[in-house]
Amino acid sequence: MKTYDVIVAGGGHAGTEAALAAARMGCSTLLLTMNVDTLGAISCNPAIGGVGKGHLVREIDALGGEMGRAADACGIQFRMLNMSKGPSARGMRAQVDMSLYSLYIKRALMFCDNLSIRQGTGAEVLVDGGVAVGIRDEMGVEYHSKCLVLTPGTFLNGLIHVGLVHFGGGRMGDAASRLLSESLRSLGFRMGRFKTGTTPRLDGRTIDFSVMETQNGDPGPRPFSFSPGASILQRQVPCHVTCTNERTHDVIREGRDFSPMFTGVITGTGVRYCPSIEDKITKFADRTAHHVFLEPQGLETIEYYPNGLSNSLPIEFQIRMLRTIRGLEEVEITRPGYAIEHDYSDPRQLYPTLETRLVKNLYFAGQINATTGYEEAAAQGLVAGMNAALRAQGREPVVIDRSRGYIGVMIDDLVTKGADEPYRMFPSRCEYRLLLREDNADLRLRGIGYEAGLVSGDEYARVCSKRARIERELERLSSERVTPTADVSEKIASWGGSPVRKAMLLRELLSRPEMDYSRLLEIGGGGEELSPDEIAQVETDVKYAGFVERQRAEIEKFRNLECVRIPGDLDYSGISGLSNEVVERLERARPVSLGQASRLAGITPAAVWTVMTYLKKRGKHN
Ligand code: FAD
Repeated sequence: MKTYDVIVAGGGHAGTEAALAAARMGCSTLLLTMNVDTLGAISCNPAIGGVGKGHLVREIDALGGEMGRAADACGIQFRMLNMSKGPSARGMRAQVDMSLYSLYIKRALMFCDNLSIRQGTGAEVLVDGGVAVGIRDEMGVEYHSKCLVLTPGTFLNGLIHVGLVHFGGGRMGDAASRLLSESLRSLGFRMGRFKTGTTPRLDGRTIDFSVMETQNGDPGPRPFSFSPGASILQRQVPCHVTCTNERTHDVIREGRDFSPMFTGVITGTGVRYCPSIEDKITKFADRTAHHVFLEPQGLETIEYYPNGLSNSLPIEFQIRMLRTIRGLEEVEITRPGYAIEHDYSDPRQLYPTLETRLVKNLYFAGQINATTGYEEAAAQGLVAGMNAALRAQGREPVVIDRSRGYIGVMIDDLVTKGADEPYRMFPSRCEYRLLLREDNADLRLRGIGYEAGLVSGDEYARVCSKRARIERELERLSSERVTPTADVSEKIASWGGSPVRKAMLLRELLSRPEMDYSRLLEIGGGGEELSPDEIAQVETDVKYAGFVERQRAEIEKFRNLECVRIPGDLDYSGISGLSNEVVERLERARPVSLGQASRLAGITPAAVWTVMTYLKKRGKHN
């Protein structure tokens, strides 16, 4: 049988990005997945993006991945979240048509050059001399490759719970992947168990929307994708909002004796930031109501997703609970809510390239690395797929560090600190968030995608000229002045600003609170015409100048440490001045750089300095 450059096992959000990346980079690629009909399936809420997650989607797009384009093509309601906050906290979220989304991804895969697709369940990683050489499926068929990417998601030893009934499954209606987990354990991987859950799905014909608040999307939304042809599906639909009440909470309390969460049946740790309704009424016992958002699952379906009601109660309690809610008095469910426990592998056993430390040429991405969420999975899939392809081609790997993107923050957190609960992305995890915004993901990452071969020369040239336009405009604002004519003073007064008494740099004027770029144009005339994204860069650079400068300086310091590589075989016990505890921690973690060492728990700045001095003396760093 043929030896592929790259095999990807698993066709969810991580696996599809990994397979597309490897194939588009010119590698002969096989996507082995349990069910070809469910490629790119959305297991839980019908939405892509959100706060923190929207950043990931735009970064995926900037690197040449597919998720942003798919969400644009299948989005049925777009909203920019956190509009009242600063630019770094905002995040685009799109409701998507779930069937269209999966179809879009499937089509992208099926018509991708260099990519073969096979239905099968990977059971055993084939290893030769510490190097992954392929995978054997549950029917005993062997597939050989130079590099292997595993993305089994919630299917890895998945166990579904509905009330006290439980059965093996990767998602309701799909079988679990059992043997792969055993294979990983036998290779020495430390495995853990997490839990997540989902809501029942409702028959929209039995919902009384007239008594609910309507929530429309933004007018004229901007697409996720930076590509010139990016456009949003024309038909946009509303969501609706209702809420739980005391009667709902009474039913849930009654059902707790039959809930796997409260009877000790579920042992896996759950998602703290996405709690089940059982959890919410226990943790926030004084709250008499919780919001429920009715989100359509698509344009050609009657099914609705009641966001906020994830639970694993027995079905009869789910129905009783729902019918206490305003507008849902007559509701019928189409599918029950449920919880799922699954295995994951400790991500500290990975390099920042997502290659495993235990087996060479083996990469992990997605939920298997202790994350939760489609966007987190897709971002890792893209990085793992790129690096597997680069290895197969004998090229240098790509590492996106914390100063380059949210993707870098996520991967660094995972491989450095691990996760004791399912990891999801938030802006608060990112120390340089003023510089790592959604609107500048292309400026930060297009170059990496281009170097790897995922972004075309034209796209890259576009981003280079965008950068040049922004720089020219910032220069213009720092050199041209506004003269305080009567007309200027009148305009500024009408915007509530204090008068301009002498000629003032445009940059200084724009930094005033009453000013924005469009007002500046009214006064100061324009340079060349800028796009909304370019204007956002200029405004942020000027309005947050002090913070921007400080973060740039911090990034410089960060990179100085990050670029000091630590040899994999360094004998820490031979470095005088390190305590036994520090030696033990460093030996266990084997950080790849001084930067990574500095972020390990228990490693003091003094210990970092000692290692740096040692490396300098030995001339071991490069
Ligand atoms: P998945 O999307 O799970 O895809 C795995 C793919 O691998 C599937 O195509 C499967 O068929 C295939 N596969 C598995 N094993 C093998 C094998 N051995 N060989 C070949 N193919 C294999 N995320 C949130 O952000 N918030 C939530 O509230 C939330 N709730 C969830 C509730 C439920 C019930 C479920 C099931 C998921 C939930 N998620 C939630 C998680 C979200 O679905 C995942 O984080 C995301 O889908 C992970 O992507 P992935 O690519 O890693 O895996």
